[in-house]
Amino acid sequence: MKITVVGTGYVGLVSGTCFAETGNKVTCVDIDEKKVQKLANGTITIYEPGLEKLFQRNLKEERLIFTTDLAEGIKEADIIFLALPTPPGEDGSADLKYVLGVAEQIGKLLVGYKVIVNKSTVPVGTAQKVHNAIRKNYNGEFDVVSNPEFLREGVAVDDFMKPDRVVVGTSSERAKKLMSELYAPYVRQGNPVIFMDEPSAELTKYAANSFLATKITFMNEIARLCELLGADVDMVRKGIGTDERIGKRFLFPGIGYGGSCFPKDVQALVRSSHEVDYDFKILESVMQVNEDQKLHLLPKIKKYFNGNLVGKHFALWGLAFKPNTDDIREAPALYIIKALVGEGATVTAYDPEAMPNVKAQVNDIINYAETQYDALKEADALIIATEWNEFRTPEFEKIAAGLKSKVIFDGRNVFDLQHMESLGFHYESVGRKPIT
Ligand code: NAD
Repeated sequence: MKITVVGTGYVGLVSGTCFAETGNKVTCVDIDEKKVQKLANGTITIYEPGLEKLFQRNLKEERLIFTTDLAEGIKEADIIFLALPTPPGEDGSADLKYVLGVAEQIGKLLVGYKVIVNKSTVPVGTAQKVHNAIRKNYNGEFDVVSNPEFLREGVAVDDFMKPDRVVVGTSSERAKKLMSELYAPYVRQGNPVIFMDEPSAELTKYAANSFLATKITFMNEIARLCELLGADVDMVRKGIGTDERIGKRFLFPGIGYGGSCFPKDVQALVRSSHEVDYDFKILESVMQVNEDQKLHLLPKIKKYFNGNLVGKHFALWGLAFKPNTDDIREAPALYIIKALVGEGATVTAYDPEAMPNVKAQVNDIINYAETQYDALKEADALIIATEWNEFRTPEFEKIAAGLKSKVIFDGRNVFDLQHMESLGFHYESVGRKPIT
């Protein structure tokens, strides 16, 4: 098939590359000229495990091309995917200006039947709005499909190539047939393509992300309670996770969820609920708890330093909002850094992939280290904000030698309590007893 993907960010680039991987001819369109130039010249613009290999292969085979010209991009396409940003507007609702703006432009360029597929996360009713925006300028035949994306950054290629399920919202049999053909190679193992109406598909994506954000937040509250009552959240986690109705995944407490999706999607669903006079109380609380959770380590750090962080220096491991990505959108680490600097402390950070992105945003606030151990020099304590694998079994002698004193505040529970005790560290984590 001939496919166009408009928007070449995390979702667009992964989708485009993975669609090319099964033999489709894919044109990726983006307004960012620099990005398009880089991609066309073979330089990948995001860090995503496994993507580079697929990207290079399909670029070489000329199944993957990049352009800034929407007209050129959609001329021959059977299916046009929209993978455009839907950032929160001022009131928290999803801002549809990118999606509807491109839909209008597409309306001016369409010739013959095409399927326009919305992959961006959008509120209920957007498929209809996209339809109307195209219809303004085009009288011919077309269908608008809602096909929310469930890939997770860090494992996006695997998620795309072997999705748990594909959700397709459409009331058109013609579009349904095309979408079935397109996704057939990705669901060969029998995972379902679930067809439904457009509003249900749109709501499914928000429901999934909001449920997951709630699950994490619930565990974060249990972790707080563990600290207050003297229980161990790891034990509680294992105790409940073995119940199949609950499941083992997404039960790890920490310093809150971040990223480009959970925060904005929870907020947008709350906003959508308000629009129909519904008060989504659980999600309101989830947002509040998560805001507090990002700074959960701060009182512990302050208490350890007798309430005064002026002149203290911290090593911070992990800037990305989660491991295996360079994405720093809404990363808890950035909130911690801001709070520490606000208290008069200084920070040297290390992250395997996300430092260039942070440098571009908060360059002058912190220092950056070449290695995780370099970050420790002259630091009063180490703070762990992202659970990259390489932080899990570090050389503890090097940590002890680098730090001024053996103090670690761990926002992701990466170390074993007994081990830390045996090594003589002061070690505080989330929902577990402090080692002092
Ligand atoms: P992103 O910001 O990484 O990428 C968006 C791209 O769109 C950028 O490259 C931007 O230059 C481009 N763009 C903006 N306006 C354009 C225009 N008029 N024409 C062409 N290109 C334009 O965003 P993302 O993370 O890929 O997310 C895209 C959508 O997918 C959002 O709705 C998001 O909620 C959803 N989503 C994201 C993820 C994820 O993990 N990132 C997962 C599932 C769904």
